[in-house]
Amino acid sequence: MTAIAEGTANLDSSLRENRVFEPSQEFRAKAHISSLEQYEQMYRRSIEKPEEFWAEAASELEWFAPWTRVLEPGRDGSGFGAKWFTGGKLNLSHNCVDRHATGSRRDKVALLWEGEPGDVRKLTYADLHAEVQRFANVLKGLGIHKGDRVAIYMGMCPELAIALLACARIGAVHSVIFGGFAAHAIVDRVNDSSCVALITQDTSYRRGSEIHLKKIADEALEQCPTIKNVVVYRRTGTPVQMKPGRDVWWDESMLAAEKECPAEWMDAEDPLYLLYTSGTTGKPKGLLHTTGGYAVQTYLTSKYVFDLHEEDVYWCTADIGWVTGHSYVVYGPLQNGATVMMYEGAPNWPECDRFWKIVDAHKVSIFYTAPTAIRAFTKWGVEHVRKHSLASLRLLGTVGEPINPEAWMWFHREIGKERCPIVDTYWQTETGAIMIAPIPGAVPTKPGSATRPFFGIVPEIVSKEGQPITDGKGGLLVFRTSWPSLARAVYGNPERYEQAYWVEVPGSYFTGDGARRDADGYYWLMGRVDDVLNVSGHRLGTMEVESALVAHAKVAEAAVVGRPDDLKGQAICAFVTLEEGHIASDELKQEIRQWVAKEIGALARPDDVRFTEALPKTRSGKIMRRLLRELASGGEIKGDTTTLEDFTVIAKLRENEE
Ligand code: ATP
Ligand code: MG
Repeated sequence: MTAIAEGTANLDSSLRENRVFEPSQEFRAKAHISSLEQYEQMYRRSIEKPEEFWAEAASELEWFAPWTRVLEPGRDGSGFGAKWFTGGKLNLSHNCVDRHATGSRRDKVALLWEGEPGDVRKLTYADLHAEVQRFANVLKGLGIHKGDRVAIYMGMCPELAIALLACARIGAVHSVIFGGFAAHAIVDRVNDSSCVALITQDTSYRRGSEIHLKKIADEALEQCPTIKNVVVYRRTGTPVQMKPGRDVWWDESMLAAEKECPAEWMDAEDPLYLLYTSGTTGKPKGLLHTTGGYAVQTYLTSKYVFDLHEEDVYWCTADIGWVTGHSYVVYGPLQNGATVMMYEGAPNWPECDRFWKIVDAHKVSIFYTAPTAIRAFTKWGVEHVRKHSLASLRLLGTVGEPINPEAWMWFHREIGKERCPIVDTYWQTETGAIMIAPIPGAVPTKPGSATRPFFGIVPEIVSKEGQPITDGKGGLLVFRTSWPSLARAVYGNPERYEQAYWVEVPGSYFTGDGARRDADGYYWLMGRVDDVLNVSGHRLGTMEVESALVAHAKVAEAAVVGRPDDLKGQAICAFVTLEEGHIASDELKQEIRQWVAKEIGALARPDDVRFTEALPKTRSGKIMRRLLRELASGGEIKGDTTTLEDFTVIAKLRENEE
C-alpha cells in the first residue's frame, strides 16, 4: 500500500505560474471543439448524464451486438467492480482495421514507418487488414485460442502493431514486454500470466547497433515452461538460433496461412490485454484491460484531445511497450482511421536532430512525446531543432511526468513556434486512457498544468480522510466515479488491485499522485504522494521545487528528495544535471540554492545540491526518486530496481558522494 506521510495530506504550493496561452484562431477554425463554452457544455452533460454521453461515443464504433446497459456501477458507485456496455459484442481489431479497410479509407496510409537506418514502409488500411488477418491465422494455427495469453517482445516495427491487432482479433490477451528489457523481466512477466506463446524478432536497430531480441528471449525462455511456441519476425536478417518444434518464422508462417480471418465476437468485458506499469514507485503491477470501455475511451480521447482530422499525420513517440503506445500509437488513433507515424530507433541517431528530420520528411502534424525527451532536446541544444522547418506541425502533446514550465515554454517556442497548442495529458497505465488534458481548440493552456478533465471524468482533490481540499491547496488526486477504460484487475492478484487503488481513500480510485486545482478549475500535478517532502511541517510536492531548479539557465534536469534532518524533519537534497558546456562548482551550488530561494521561497532552498551526469530513470524515462531518497539518506538501495534504465547511474552517484 502507498505509505502516505502522517498528518493531513495537504500539500503546500510554491509554483508561481500565471502565463496563459489561447489557441490561435487558425487552430480553432478547424477544431472539433472550438470554444471554451462548447467544452464546458459538453463536459457538464457528460457528468450529468454519463450513460447517455458514453453511449453516444460508443455508437461511433461498430458493435456486432448492442449493449443492454451502459454502466453497472461498482462498489459505492465507484469504478471498483463497475462494468461498461454489458452484453455488447465487438472486436477492437475490427474497429481499428476492417471498419476503415472496407470503407473509404481503404487506400489511406495507416502505418507510416521509418526504420533507424532510414528505410521507410507505408501500410494502407487495406494492407493492414490483410496482414492482421493472416497473422491472426498464424496464431490460430499454433493452437492459440481466445483467452490465451501471448507475450510480445519486439522493437518498434509495423509487425509489432500487427501482432497486437492479430491477438485482439482472435481474443488472445497480449502482454507486451518492452524491447529494452533484459531476460529476467521477460521471465517475470511471462510466468506471472502463464503466456502460451511469445512473438519476437531476430534483432532490432538501436543507436546504430543491434539489440539481440531473439537471443535475449531464448535466455529467458529457459525459465518459462508455459511457452509452447515462438514466432520470429525477420527484421534485420541477423542469424539467430531456431529451436525445432518451438520456433517458427513469421514470414514462412504467413505464406502458409489463410487470407481471411473473421474477427472474434468479444464481450465488452472480455480481456484485451495485460500490461505492466513502469515501476517508478516499486515492483510493476500487471494491469488487465478489457475490450468495450477501453475501445470507447481511447477512441474518443484520441479524437478530441489530439483533434484528429482526416489529413493529419500523427506521431506519438512512445514505444508500444508502454501504455501510451498501446492507447495512442495503436488502438486510439487507428480506431479514428488516422495515419500513424512509427519510428524504430533512437532520437539522437545518427544525429540529435533525427526527430525533426522525420517531422519534416513525413509532414508530421501532431507530435506527442514525453517530458524526459523534451529535457534531452534542450540539453542537446537548440541548433539541432533550428536546422529544420517543422512547418507541418499543428499540435503538440506530452505525457509521462509533470512537465516543468520551463520545458513547456521551450517546447512551445522551439518546436511549436508559438503556433501549436500543447496538450499535457495526465493519465496512467491503470486509467487506460487520458483523464485530464486540454481540448486544444477550446481550453487555454498554462505551462505545467494538465488543465481540465476529459469528458465524463470527475477528478477530486482530497485529504487522506477523503475530505475535499480547497482550491489552491494540494492534496491527493482521486477519481470517485467510474470511467470506461479503467483497468479491471491486477492479473491474478485481486488483493493487490484493491489495496493499491481502492483502500487509501475509501470509495474512490486513488492515483498515488498529488495535485491542486486553481481558481479556474485547472489541475496541477505536483508529483507522487510517495515522494512528497516534509520540511519544517510544510509538505512540498517534488514538481514545483524541481521546476524552480530547471528554470535556472544552467540546469538541465533536477530531482529533489528529502533526507532525514533533526531540525526540520526533512532536508531537501537536489540532484542536478547541467546543460551542455557548464561545469560543476561550489559557487554554482550556492548560486542554484539561492536561485530556488528567490524563485519560490527560503523554505524550498535545497540543503544539498549534488551534480550528476544523469538521473536514475525507468526505461520509460521517468525519474526514480525512491532510489535517490535511499541514496540521500545514506542507506543502501533496497527497492525494486528491475526497471532501472542504466545501473551505472547509481554507481556514479555513489562515487560522487562527499
Ligand atoms: P508504477 O505505478 O509501477 O510506479 P508508473 O506510475 O510510472 O509506475 P505509468 O502508469 O506508466 O507507471 O505512469 C503513470 C504516472 O505517470 C502517473 O501516476 C503520474 O505520476 C505520471 N504522469 C503521467 N502523465 C503525467 C502528466 N501529464 N502530468 C503529471 N504526471 C504524469
Ligand atoms: Mg503508477
